[in-house]
Amino acid sequence: MLVERHIEEIRNIIRGRLLQNAALSGFTSFKIGGPADLLVEPTNSSELGNLLRYLHEEHIDYLILGAGTNVLFHDNGFRGVVIRTAALDEWEIHQNGSDRCRVTLSAGVPLPAAVSRACKAGLHGMEALWGIPGSFGGGVATNAGAGGISIGDLLESISLVDRAGKEILIPKEDLNYTYRTMCLPAGSVAIRGIIRLVRAEQGFIEEELESARSLRRKKQPTDRPSAGCVFKNPSPDLPAGSLIDRLGFKGMQAGGAQVSEVHANFIVNTGNATAEDVLRLIETIRNEVFRREHVDLELELCVISEGSTHE
Ligand SMILES: Cc1cc2nc3c(=O)[nH]c(=O)nc-3n(C[C@H](O)[C@H](O)[C@H](O)COP(=O)(O)OP(=O)(O)OC[C@H]3O[C@@H](n4cnc5c(N)ncnc54)[C@H](O)[C@@H]3O)c2cc1C
Repeated sequence: MLVERHIEEIRNIIRGRLLQNAALSGFTSFKIGGPADLLVEPTNSSELGNLLRYLHEEHIDYLILGAGTNVLFHDNGFRGVVIRTAALDEWEIHQNGSDRCRVTLSAGVPLPAAVSRACKAGLHGMEALWGIPGSFGGGVATNAGAGGISIGDLLESISLVDRAGKEILIPKEDLNYTYRTMCLPAGSVAIRGIIRLVRAEQGFIEEELESARSLRRKKQPTDRPSAGCVFKNPSPDLPAGSLIDRLGFKGMQAGGAQVSEVHANFIVNTGNATAEDVLRLIETIRNEVFRREHVDLELELCVISEGSTHE
């Protein structure tokens, strides 16, 4: 349990923002979640390393939070420290005169900003990721993707800080990733990554961007809070949304949570949804899809329990 002595020590480690009893609903796209005992925003990798080492030594639970666009927090919040990466926001394009370019991105860089800056700089490769609202670090951790590419495909390497506070470089060949999954050591934080992009004509980049934009506008609900797709697609030919739609579940509600009318794999918050409501809806969908379609749907959404997720 977090006590005053811990908070004082953490205050000495972190120069960035530190909030006690932070309402997590304000830090997620779902707008759901009770208070975290403490929410902190380290401003560099050494602060983060010192913090992780301290929390590990003191057996204090922690959770890494990017932009909060793929998480469902508990209605009672989180007992421990939520480490938000928003202040780790550096970005650098490495020019070497060739058509191939390397870009270093820190964990907290918003993906929409990364896509937009890369495109404006005449770099091709990220356009399909347009509209994914997460952070770069969250994108690495979830291997976010769209239009047939994922962050893992673009990576040259990532740098992690492990729970002992040590920084480790993982080259692409040692990265273990599959569809919407990146295997990272438990409790570690992806602090930065290098991606590879190529130079291209601005007109071509604009076309690619426009096709990503129109696909997303047609297919995804944008008017209500959500956390993106709730379930992973069982296979590329069997989207979870089609399975759920087939059962006629669009519009189905549990309390303030509703299966989106636009995309059956999205659950939206109609205004006052609780985590409990969302979990009830998830359970109904999973049970019915299993009973009627014989498919066991796997969650894409990260459901965070009130206690630790890292032990
Ligand atoms: C409207 C909407 C559309 C979406 N469309 C897509 C889409 O097309 N494709 C897609 O893949 N996703 C999509 N998503 C889901 C989401 O945006 C992505 O999964 C995104 O990459 C999550 O990033 P985040 O920073 O928000 O992560 P968070 O939600 O903050 O965290 C997600 C998980 O990653 C962990 N994590 C976060 N940062 C780090 C880090 N630096 N190091 C280690 N672990 C970390 C967290 O502990 C948590 O387990 C969508 C979401 C919304 C709301």
